[in-house]
Parts: sequence; C-alpha cells; structure tokens
Amino acid sequence: MMKKNQVTRRQFLTTASIGAMAIASRRIPAYGNVSRRAGKLAILGGEPVRKNKSWPEWPYWDDKVIDEVVKTTKSRIWCRIQSESGTVPTFEKKYAGLMGTRYCVATGSGTQALHTSVEALGIGAGEEVITSPYTDPGTIASILVSRALPVLADLDPESYQLDPDDVERRITENTRAIMPVHMMGQPCHMDRITAIAKKHNLKVIEDACQAHLSVYKGKKLGTIGDLGCFSFQSSKTITCGEGGGIIGNDENLMDKCYTVHNHGTSRRGRTEVIGPKYRMNEFEAAVLLGQLSGVQERFARRNANAAYLSARLKDCPGVQPQKLYEGTESGSFYLYAMTYRKEHFNDAERSTFLKALQAEGVSLSPYIRQGLHREPWIENVLGSSVYLKMFSAQRLKQYREEATCPNCDKVCQEMVMLWASGPLLGTQEDMDDVADAILKVYENREKLKAVK
Ligand SMILES: *Cc1c(COP(=O)(O)O)cnc(C)c1O
Repeated sequence: MMKKNQVTRRQFLTTASIGAMAIASRRIPAYGNVSRRAGKLAILGGEPVRKNKSWPEWPYWDDKVIDEVVKTTKSRIWCRIQSESGTVPTFEKKYAGLMGTRYCVATGSGTQALHTSVEALGIGAGEEVITSPYTDPGTIASILVSRALPVLADLDPESYQLDPDDVERRITENTRAIMPVHMMGQPCHMDRITAIAKKHNLKVIEDACQAHLSVYKGKKLGTIGDLGCFSFQSSKTITCGEGGGIIGNDENLMDKCYTVHNHGTSRRGRTEVIGPKYRMNEFEAAVLLGQLSGVQERFARRNANAAYLSARLKDCPGVQPQKLYEGTESGSFYLYAMTYRKEHFNDAERSTFLKALQAEGVSLSPYIRQGLHREPWIENVLGSSVYLKMFSAQRLKQYREEATCPNCDKVCQEMVMLWASGPLLGTQEDMDDVADAILKVYENREKLKAVK
C-alpha cells in the first residue's frame, strides 16, 4: 500500500512539473499540432483555433442531486436541528470521512466557516491574525467580524501563496493565529508555516475554501492546521450555491465550533458563548450529498488536464504555470493559473494578450486585480472608533506604514488564469485548444503590435 502510494506521488510530481508522463502516454509532442497554430491571428482576421464549442458547464448536477433535493422536500426535514439523520448531519459525516478527519461542522458559507473558527479559537478584540492580501474578501471579513486585525503578509510571486518569511516578520505580541490561504486550490508552504506557528505559539486556520481534496505530503489540505475551512459557493469545485464547512480532529474545539455557529447554543441545549447563526440548511446539504458521488473522478480529471496543459506549455517562456511546492501531490485546480511574462511576448500588455486569446476562442482572465491591502477597508476600519479603542495609535500607524505588498501587486498585474471548476473537466481536445491558442499568440507575438 505504502509503496504504491509513493509511486503515485512520484508520478504525479513528474506530470505536474515536467509533464513527461502525459507526453509519453498520449504520444503528443510538446508542441502539438503545428498547423493549428500557423496562420494569421484571429484578432487580425485569421481563423480562430477554437470555434463553436462549449465548455463543461458549472455548477455540475445530475439526477442524484435532483433526487436528494426531492427527498428532502418530501421529508419535511428542512432544518438541521430537526433530525440527527437529516442531510446536514449526514453530509458532515461523509465530508469528514472524505477528508480523513473525525469531525465536520457545516455552515452557510466559507466566510462563516472561517469566522466560526476565529471565534471558536477565542480570537477577538485587540488581537491579530496574519493572512494573505491575495484572496477572497471573505478571508479578512472572518477576522474583522470578530473585531480582530487582519495583518496582510506578502506573497511568493511564483506560487501566489503567502511568503513564510514575510509572515514571520509581521508577528507582533498580539498575533494569535496564521490563516494560510491555499490559492487556486494548491498548497501553501505548510511545513514552514506550521513550524513558524509552533515556534511562536500561534494557531493555524487553513483557508482551504478553494482546496477541496488537495493533498500535501500525504495530508489533505484543511487537515494540517488546527481547523480547516471550505467553501461550497457556486464557483467552487464542490458546491451547493452557498455553503461552507469546518473540519478538525480536536473534539472540544469542534464542539465549540458547533456551539458558536449555532447562536452560541451547544449540543447540550445550553446557550453558552458569543455566536451568530450560521447553520447550513437541509437543501444545501442535499445538493452536496448528491454531488459527492463522482467527486473523486472529477478531481482526478482536473489534475490530469492541468498536468497535460502544463506539459503542452512547458517550452513556452511567455507563460509560467503556478509554482507548486515540494510535497504537492494533487490540487483541486479551482483555477489553472499562470504568470504572463510580457518580455517574452514582444512587450505586449497582458490585456492585449488576453484579447488576442479571446479572439482565438479561449478566455483567460486576470482574476484578482488588486490585493486587499489596496481596498478602502483599511482606512474605514482602522479609523473607526472601535478599532481606535482596541489598538494603540502607534500600532495603527505602523499598520498603515507596513500595508505594502509589492509581490502581491506584481501577481495582480501578471497573473492569467483559466477558470477551472467546469473547463478543466473538458476533454484533451479542449486542453489542446487552450495550449494551441496560447502558442499561436506566442508564435505571432511580433504581430501583437498591430492589435488595438
Ligand atoms: C470563496 C472563498 C472564500 C469565501 O467563501 P464563501 O463561501 O464565498 O463565503 C474564502 N476564501 C477563499 C480563498 C475563497 O476562494
């Protein structure tokens, strides 16, 4: 068993990093079908690489999802507290099983899962949590609603993940936790983050909202820190429209999460602590239960397609797929992300490159255009009477001075991505379209000057 796993891991790393496997097994040369990339750019009047084709649609549903929703409707159990065998408690057991943890508490969103975790760990007024500026606003919202201070550390510009050195530099005497965000569903450098947390006696709340089923050094993301949080919002790779979940192994802490998310009322029926009402409803869990079958196959398909795409693009210096840390065994591939290097595209702006690709029938997007360190919340929150009471004037001044993240700015300017929940479930031909379109634009980079 052990041996088999190790081989799989090594094979995955080979495919992910150099793509040798994908090429050998599919007998496709790294540069693919040259004729499809010859000829005029579509944006200048040529034939597009891809036309009249659609991508796999997202969110995914099939008859199992419909059946579960109908069953829930007819059962009249529409709220989780009505039954221990309703869809929410059943989903919690199944999701914990899938993740290999002892417990799961389902919530109404990923933001709610994160906030419940912050609150359950007793983090609040006057305290600080270090996280990433390059993430969904829900990440910092979860800290702010507990009236703590989200401290934004800069990124490793090639992996788009938190830079552990910068995390360590930003620790103060009030820091209570690190909230690493596994962007695009790929792992942060968890060995280093865990070591820093241990050294400074900090909690780790994993924002695994994009990282369902991803594996780092034999462990699923979300199971490495004290608590792991997921989102089931409609764009994510497992979804019910809006939903979330917390996983963990510590019985007391997970019981506290339940209490917090249940307006402070415990499983024993006593109202005990501060807590909002964040319960998932039974219809959401019905959709999730219906979707769980087949989830591993879809996960494997996204990984295989991503490896294939990386292999096809490996000799193109103009696009550099997201750096994966050693120990990355698989990723959810919520997004397939690359750094666009304009110096290799005859200095064409990213927007020009994206326009040219769009004309070829392939849409990539820049994703997050500004890090959270550039949003107005900093002035509004730090200037509020509540924060002025909780933090010293000196701390708030220092916060403003240090709210720069140049690597995050660089990533916001250079990143291009294929939204992957649906598209990465496509066929190999779909992936060839993406690669051929990029390579066609690359080979015609001299002509991009003519694009308006
Ligand atoms: C989606 C997301 C969240 C928030 O989840 P919601 O379900 O939308 O509240 C938080 N962090 C990251 C990284 C996300 O992608």
